[in-house]
Amino acid sequence: MASSGTFDVIVIGVGSMGSAACYYLSGRGHKVLGLEQFDISHEYGSHTGQSRIIRKAYFEHPAYVPLLEKAYRNWKALEWETGKQVYFKTGLLYAGNPNNAIIQGVEQSAALYNIDLDQLNTVAATDHFPQFKFPDHFEILFEPEAGFITPERSIRLYAREAEEKGAVIHSNEKVIEWKKDGNNIIVKTNKDIYQSNKLVITAGAWAGKMIPGLSDKIKVTRQLIVWIKTKRDDQFELDKFPCWMIGDDDKHGCFYGFPLLDTKKFGEPAGLKLAHHFPYQKTDPDNVNREITEEDLKTIKYCLDTYLPGVFDSVLTAKICLYANSPDENFIIDRLPGYEENVSIACGFSGHGFKFASVVGEILSDLTIEGETNMPIQFLSAKRFD
Ligand SMILES: Cc1cc2nc3c(=O)[nH]c(=O)nc-3n(C[C@H](O)[C@H](O)[C@H](O)COP(=O)(O)OP(=O)(O)OC[C@H]3O[C@@H](n4cnc5c(N)ncnc54)[C@H](O)[C@@H]3O)c2cc1C
Repeated sequence: MASSGTFDVIVIGVGSMGSAACYYLSGRGHKVLGLEQFDISHEYGSHTGQSRIIRKAYFEHPAYVPLLEKAYRNWKALEWETGKQVYFKTGLLYAGNPNNAIIQGVEQSAALYNIDLDQLNTVAATDHFPQFKFPDHFEILFEPEAGFITPERSIRLYAREAEEKGAVIHSNEKVIEWKKDGNNIIVKTNKDIYQSNKLVITAGAWAGKMIPGLSDKIKVTRQLIVWIKTKRDDQFELDKFPCWMIGDDDKHGCFYGFPLLDTKKFGEPAGLKLAHHFPYQKTDPDNVNREITEEDLKTIKYCLDTYLPGVFDSVLTAKICLYANSPDENFIIDRLPGYEENVSIACGFSGHGFKFASVVGEILSDLTIEGETNMPIQFLSAKRFD
C-alpha cells in the first residue's frame, strides 16, 4: 500500500511528552506529523487530573535537578508565548520521618544545587498550615518555588502552537505498527500509512507495545486519584494551602495533594485532590478496570484520618490514571538501540514525569535533529537495562 503522506518526523502519541516534542520539532522548521489514538488530552493514559506537582529538590535523584531547571524555564517560555498560565506557584510542604528516603533525598538535592528550602518544626508547620496534623518526630520542609502545572491545558497549548508552526496533528488515529524500510520509517495506523525519515515514540503506557525490546521492561499500573468535599473549603483555597507530600512511617511511597482549585478557572472535577504515589495493580492499558471500590479508597481515607483529621466530608470524584513504570523508576530517554539513526524514545516516566514534559520535548527534538543533546540525560539511557 502506498503511503499517503511524507514527513520529516512522525511522533507516535501526542500526550504529555509527544505534544511538547511536536512543538519543539515544528519550531525548528521540521515537517511533523503527530498521531494520537484519542483526543488531544484525554482520560485514558497518564496525564488526566487537572494538576501535576512540579518541584526542584528532587528526592528521586539529584541528577534530575539540571533538567528541572530547564523545565521551569521552558514552562515559563510556553506561558510567555501563549499568554496562558500553566505553572502555579503554591510552595510544597514535605513531611516525614527524618530517615524517610523522601526527606533525605529532598535535603540532598537542595544542598547540592542550592535550592531554597525552609526547615520547620511540626509546631511551626501546623501554626502555618493548621489543616495538617503531624507526629512530633516528623521533619517538615517547605520548598517555596514548587507548585503545580496544569497537564491538559499544557498539552493542548503545545499541540496548538505546534500546529501554528506547521505541524499536522491527527487525533483519534491509532498507530498499529511501524517499521524501518531502508533509511525511512513507515507508520501504519487504523486509517492510513505514512512515511518519514525520523520517528519519535512517546506512547506513555503503550510504550511497551510500540517499542521493540521494551514490552517486558515497562510495567503499567492502575493509579487512583480522588477529589473530596471538605468540611471547610475556605481553608484549602489556592492562596491558603500548598501542594504537599507526606512519607508515612508504614505505607510505601508517599501521599500527596493540592490546594482546592476553582472549576471556573481549572475545569472539572471539583474538590480537594489527593493520591498515593506508589505503583498499584499491574494492568493492560487497553483493558483497564476503571471501577473504584471501597478497597481502593482505604489508603486515601487512612491518609485523611492521619494527616488531615476532621476535614473529610465525602468523595466527590475518583479516577484511574496509568503509571508506566521502568524497572528502576527512572525515565528512559534515548535513541532507540538498533534504530539509533531514525528513532528516539521517551517513556517509563514512572508516575513523576509530567513536570519534565517541557524539557523532554526539547531533548527529543535535539536527539531527532542533531542525534545528541547537551542536556545531561546519560543516566536515563535505554541501554542501562541490557
Ligand atoms: C495519578 C497520577 C499522578 C501523577 N502525578 C504527577 C505529578 O504530580 N507530577 C509529575 O510530574 N508527574 C505526575 N504523574 C506522571 C505524569 O503524569 C506522567 O509521567 C506523564 O503524563 C507521562 O507522559 P507520557 O507522554 O509518557 O504519557 P501520556 O501523557 O499518557 O501520553 C502518551 C500518549 O500516547 C498515546 N498513544 C499510545 N499509543 C498510541 C498509538 N498506538 N497510537 C496513537 N497514540 C498512542 C496515548 O493515547 C497518549 O495520549 C502522575 C501520573 C499519574 C497517573
